Amino acid sequence: MNISELETRLNQLAEQAVAEFAEVERKEDAIQVKNRYLGRKGGVQELMKLIRELPNDEKRLAGQASNLAKKTIQDAYDARNDMLDARELARQLAAETIDVTLPARTPAVRSGHPLIEVQQELISIFSDMGFEVAEGPEIEEDFYNFEALNFPADHPARDMQDTFMLDDGRLLRTHTSPVQVRTMLAYGTPVRVISPGRVYRCDADVTHSPVFHQVEGLLVDENITFADLKGTLSHFAERVFGPGTPLRFRPSFFPFTEPSAEVDIGCIFCEGSGCRICSHTGWLEILGSGMVDPNVFTSVGVDPEKYSGFAFGMGVERIAMLKLGVNDIRMFFDNDLRFLAQF
Ligand SMILES: [Zn+2]
Repeated sequence: MNISELETRLNQLAEQAVAEFAEVERKEDAIQVKNRYLGRKGGVQELMKLIRELPNDEKRLAGQASNLAKKTIQDAYDARNDMLDARELARQLAAETIDVTLPARTPAVRSGHPLIEVQQELISIFSDMGFEVAEGPEIEEDFYNFEALNFPADHPARDMQDTFMLDDGRLLRTHTSPVQVRTMLAYGTPVRVISPGRVYRCDADVTHSPVFHQVEGLLVDENITFADLKGTLSHFAERVFGPGTPLRFRPSFFPFTEPSAEVDIGCIFCEGSGCRICSHTGWLEILGSGMVDPNVFTSVGVDPEKYSGFAFGMGVERIAMLKLGVNDIRMFFDNDLRFLAQF
């Protein structure tokens, strides 16, 4: 080994190191490469052990050559390390860039739930006719839900199968009619109220839900007749289903009205010619109604000789299904935005 051989091997080592740094993609790999060449047991140190073999006058030159090689390797390391830092910074900046030209996301603005929208429409129609909104509790006592409304003790509607009973003897109201009783007891006569609200029954299929909404109306005054009921409901049907909507009253029975009538509209889908939805009858039932039974007046302290009145009640879901063409009541309660967004 002489000085020129040593210089050549130092140069080769430095070139090899520079080439390796050029391939390195991670900072920790660059440190490893640096240690392999410049560390205490690194390539340069190994070569420097050979200095001992050189004549004294060449040792100084060997030291200079070794310093040069070390500097070349250190510079190559620094340059690569700086490049990797810069690249990482650029990557972070690119990832965190805010594109101010991107259009803003518009919040989804919806109208209310279709059931509430329909209920509001029903309320406003009757409000226009002078009815005031009256509300009552959903947890009700037997007296208001059944007894004062002339339900006999053995009436099937009192059956546990239909009514959600509570442990303390109270119940979840099965209709909004107890509000009639509460209103007449609280305010006496005359009275003209509309009562919307949730009601509960043990019942569930495509047209029945255990919880549903009713809108109930009550008008009591002197000289109220069945003609007033017909006029009120005819006006109502035309506002909801369109002018000229045919109306039909069918004799029926409810404990709290006498006489009682179920009310149909001409089928809005086939215009009376008969279709699957109206079971080929040409008619669709929309509500129940009748003249207030004298027994109801008596139980709330109103004189049935002096006063008369009518009452009607309808399921909001039923009206909404007909108006909106929905064939499964459960869709109103599924909270599926794809369904709700259509209205
Ligand atoms: Zn039809």
